[in-house]
Amino acid sequence: MTAAPLLSVQSLEAWYGRAHILTGVDLTVGRGEVVALMGRNGAGKTTTLKAIMGLVESRRGRVALDSRDVSSLPPHRMARLGVGYVPEDRRIFADLTVEENLEVGRQPPRPGAPAWTPEKLFALFPNLAEMRGRRGTRMSGGEQQMLTLARTLMGNPSLLLLDEPSEGLAPIIVRQMADAVRRLKAEGLSVLVSEQNLSFAAVVADRASVIEKGQVRWTGAMADLMADEAARRAYLAL
Ligand code: ATP
Repeated sequence: MTAAPLLSVQSLEAWYGRAHILTGVDLTVGRGEVVALMGRNGAGKTTTLKAIMGLVESRRGRVALDSRDVSSLPPHRMARLGVGYVPEDRRIFADLTVEENLEVGRQPPRPGAPAWTPEKLFALFPNLAEMRGRRGTRMSGGEQQMLTLARTLMGNPSLLLLDEPSEGLAPIIVRQMADAVRRLKAEGLSVLVSEQNLSFAAVVADRASVIEKGQVRWTGAMADLMADEAARRAYLAL
């Protein structure tokens, strides 16, 4: 890791109406690093990713990308700076085919980020290759989730914010998703992945930040979290 992390989040707070959801989140993601944002249901994982991306209107704190303060940028500006956000719910165009969905996501290559093409993505997600002419309406939830990720990659992000990618997926699809995240890391991408699934996080993540009641309570190497039963019992649903 170089001195300045790619993403640095300090004292991030967020509100939904009057509800103070994030009360001070601190975390970093280094270049080429995969960090798992873990925590129980309702701990604030999704809100953290949304607040970083600029999708929560009411927020406070500092978000820096490559040492640049991006705390008040809207989502489209974050995307232009190379941040790809993959929400938990699938966002594909159901009437379009797999290939057409990918074309919708296409952006010019970005310095320092891998340049994705449909063919390169089909190598990453072989089951999408088999259904390249299929419309979204005829895909399973897991296939739609992969297509959402693949379409985001067509924007050539350098940082991915990935919200609970294993949620609700069949075990075989979870394995394919974990494999894909590992290969993205090998391509040099940096990833902040929100996860409740400890075994998924153990396979993909270098480090973990564990959030409870809107604050990061534990941070360290993923291997150390796996070894720290007390922390897992305190902060994660086991
Ligand atoms: P999950 O795994 O259930 O998605 P999470 O850790 O991602 O959990 P968040 O979705 O960030 O948690 O939710 C944090 C808190 O904010 C919860 O108490 C939730 O009920 C609340 N919340 C989430 N979205 C909204 C909203 N749009 N309006 C009001 N409260 C919300």
